[in-house]
Amino acid sequence: MAENNNFIHSIIDEELAEGGRCYGKTVHTRFPPEPNGYLHIGHVKAMCIDFGTAEKYGGLCNLRMDDTNPAKEDDEFVRAIQEDIHWMGFDWGDRFYYASDYFDTMYELAVGLIKKGLAYVCEQTPEEVQKNRGDLTHPAVSPYRDRPIEESLDLFARMKAGEFADGAMTLRAKIDLASGNFNMRDPVIYRINHQPHHRQGNKWCIYPMYDFAHPIEDMIEQITHSLCSLEFENHRPLYNWVRDNVDYDADPRQIEFARLGIDHTVLSKRKLRKLVEEGYVSGWDDPRMPTLCGLRRRGYTPASVRNFIDRIGVAKVPNVVEMALLEHCLREDLNENAPRAMAVLRPLKLTVTNYPAGQTEIFDMENNPVQENSGTHPVVFSGSVYIEQEDFMEEPIKGYRRFFPGNEVRLKGAYIVKCTGCVKDDAGNVIEVLCEYDPETRGGNTPDGRKVGGTVHWVDAGTAVDAEVRLYSTLFEDADPDAADKDFLACLNPQSLEVLTGCKMEAMLGNASGSYQFLRLGYFCVDKDSTPEHRIFNRSVSLKDTFKKK
Ligand code: ATP
Ligand code: MG
Repeated sequence: MAENNNFIHSIIDEELAEGGRCYGKTVHTRFPPEPNGYLHIGHVKAMCIDFGTAEKYGGLCNLRMDDTNPAKEDDEFVRAIQEDIHWMGFDWGDRFYYASDYFDTMYELAVGLIKKGLAYVCEQTPEEVQKNRGDLTHPAVSPYRDRPIEESLDLFARMKAGEFADGAMTLRAKIDLASGNFNMRDPVIYRINHQPHHRQGNKWCIYPMYDFAHPIEDMIEQITHSLCSLEFENHRPLYNWVRDNVDYDADPRQIEFARLGIDHTVLSKRKLRKLVEEGYVSGWDDPRMPTLCGLRRRGYTPASVRNFIDRIGVAKVPNVVEMALLEHCLREDLNENAPRAMAVLRPLKLTVTNYPAGQTEIFDMENNPVQENSGTHPVVFSGSVYIEQEDFMEEPIKGYRRFFPGNEVRLKGAYIVKCTGCVKDDAGNVIEVLCEYDPETRGGNTPDGRKVGGTVHWVDAGTAVDAEVRLYSTLFEDADPDAADKDFLACLNPQSLEVLTGCKMEAMLGNASGSYQFLRLGYFCVDKDSTPEHRIFNRSVSLKDTFKKK
């Protein structure tokens, strides 16, 4: 991460200096996903900050499953999260933890707070707590606040033993019912929830609230810097209160950074889960999803994602980044690294009428113009090829330079050919373009230097392989579907997926894997569901860069 765009590193630099809070200490961070969904690109920002900060200071970063909430957590997500982090190139070594493993300690520390008169069992229902939280001019109310310590200890033990129903009572920290920060108005720190936990089974029927659990998790792991997104800023006083009042010797500090937002998408597991569960997309790894597995399937590389995160920097001011920047970063990477190939998405037959019947030639096509010595690959030419339908116009519009009767066009790397006409079916649709080639222009050169129209890509008809191609555009038509006042489902783009079948690919792509630049069309990758019998390519990104233009 660049030096100048990360305020967190400026803070840490000061703390590591002589006399600072962390002088002589190892910087220790954690990445704490909740295993209730797949990671999305917002998490990558947090991941890069957590692992990246540890890397920069020669410190450590733990991977911690923040699984204190029994609902919706799943081992499938745990495995997927680990895979995604490794894919991004980060590693937690042997420091993999589950917050739920700390439930015993958390319980003991809560009991300790009750004994110090700093927590009490409140028998208001969640609705009553909500109703009695007061407002800016009126303090919150809890009739149970001053009950004897012994009574709270007894009730809390019985809560744990399963004697009470969900919602019957809670454990609340005794802080300040009149605080201007509502998080400090005797927040609930434990609630009853008779629900099995994905790792703890039925051991617990009380679960700690995030604000109580998180600082304790950080203390147990001796985290020095607990880096999180901005929505926790208002919770920091409570984080500090827990840290300073439970009997545990550790001194973590919470620092917040702006959440990443990207236009035309949503970055919330809850919303992404809805898209999956209600079938708006094909799964968590649908190539239109902003999840890491979706981006991976779309053809994103770890380097392009990392580069994107580096460019947006780390700041405290929330901002929404353009999807065009993410695409720009992918394009840059693939331009350097993806081999070139030819494919025709909407094929139209083109026949070179004066090409000797039965003759074939092999042309060497450049693999990758960006890298030196990237070599060439052989492409067969037999005088009968496919071109794009849009590369022919019987009656050309002004400025059109591709195929129309009388015009000379270069078939990329093969020959200059002159269009002589076309064949139509009974309905009047053009089904074949006819042309004649100039044998003197082998390789697409013009020895006499004459001007020809455009250069078009093509695929040899005799050796072409068929494929399905999936073209994607943004999942949401609306630029800001994540806005609080919007129904994000109503913002979906009905045209975000276009499936083309019967596309023609040069023979080499028959058993391809990975990413390619298809000449004039964009970058494509082989989909995970592709088979030799049914090839499927995803368009990762088109060639047109909308970011650079701005
Ligand atoms: P979501 O709303 O998608 O569920 P979350 O914050 O609840 O997000 P967690 O799994 O709890 O998801 O988050 C793990 C870490 O990732 C946290 O530190 C959180 O602050 C961070 N994080 C989540 N979303 C973003 C985002 N859009 N930008 C930056 N950091 C994020
Ligand atoms: Mg969460």
